[in-house]
Amino acid sequence: MKAPDFEYQRPATLAQALAALADADLDAMPLAGGQSLMPMMNFRVANPGRLVDLADLADLRGITRNGATIRIGAMTRYAELAASADVREALPLIAMALPHIAHDAIRNRGTIGGSLALADPAAEMPAIALALGATFEVAGQGGVRRIAADDFFQGYYDTALEQGELIVAIHLPVATPDHAFGFHELTQRHGDYALAGVAIARKGPDHRIAFFGVADRPLRITALEKAISAGTPVQDALTHLADVDWTGDLKASSATRQRLAGVALGRAIGGMRP
Ligand SMILES: Cc1cc2nc3c(=O)[nH]c(=O)nc-3n(C[C@H](O)[C@H](O)[C@H](O)COP(=O)(O)OP(=O)(O)OC[C@H]3O[C@@H](n4cnc5c(N)ncnc54)[C@H](O)[C@@H]3O)c2cc1C
Repeated sequence: MKAPDFEYQRPATLAQALAALADADLDAMPLAGGQSLMPMMNFRVANPGRLVDLADLADLRGITRNGATIRIGAMTRYAELAASADVREALPLIAMALPHIAHDAIRNRGTIGGSLALADPAAEMPAIALALGATFEVAGQGGVRRIAADDFFQGYYDTALEQGELIVAIHLPVATPDHAFGFHELTQRHGDYALAGVAIARKGPDHRIAFFGVADRPLRITALEKAISAGTPVQDALTHLADVDWTGDLKASSATRQRLAGVALGRAIGGMRP
């Protein structure tokens, strides 16, 4: 199928983009890499009256290291993240996950901001943002606000973004010598969305553990994090997976997803590195 008719705008400034998105009657939507939005339009799952292309917005570009924090513009593509020495050195968890996201063609166009705004519960970047305790810089016509990753993901493809708001950038903590990171995902084929996956950031004894592909959003389990942080062996800590409402679908039942999440967790912890 082809997408229904839509109006296309390519603003030159953030202010122009926000004005173009503010027209609620047109159901305007931002366009980033188009790797999810264009198929969604072709399948008529999304039907925006206006597409606002973010390609020319300088505010949404670039990777800037500033002391203990690194700022990644929302329009930064996966391929640019993979090529960045700053990302490899300061954000090893992102570097670990990138080869698992789709394929080269999609990584050449897809953006970190598009993935976070879409909030696919099986996507890697939302879980990584959660594990790292990221903060999102969000702009709307009312001004700029910051949203913690813990408050951002609110359900199945649902976020704290209001109509007309844009993710401008993501702020992430730079890795320090007392950090270690783990990542593992289980898929049917390499490059597929994960059946179950986990991203882990440890600082000293404290673990932030974010699962993906297993629930309606990227998921932290407080009791599990506390147990692992207290030194409980993974096999014993798995009891804390019992209370979660694990996704069950045609690919894996809820019980299988719980089991796969436990396997991913064990492998990620076994492979933790600075
Ligand atoms: C075959 C295939 C396999 C894939 N496999 C994976 C995978 O394994 N893992 C994975 O994570 N992803 C996967 N993807 C999705 C891919 O990562 C997308 O690139 C990503 O989800 C969306 O990024 P995008 O830049 O293309 O966003 P777009 O498709 O342009 O936009 C996605 C959504 O976000 C909104 N949006 C975009 N930018 C912003 C912004 N700055 N502020 C607010 N809203 C915004 C858009 O309006 C739209 O609703 C796959 C895609 C395909 C086609």
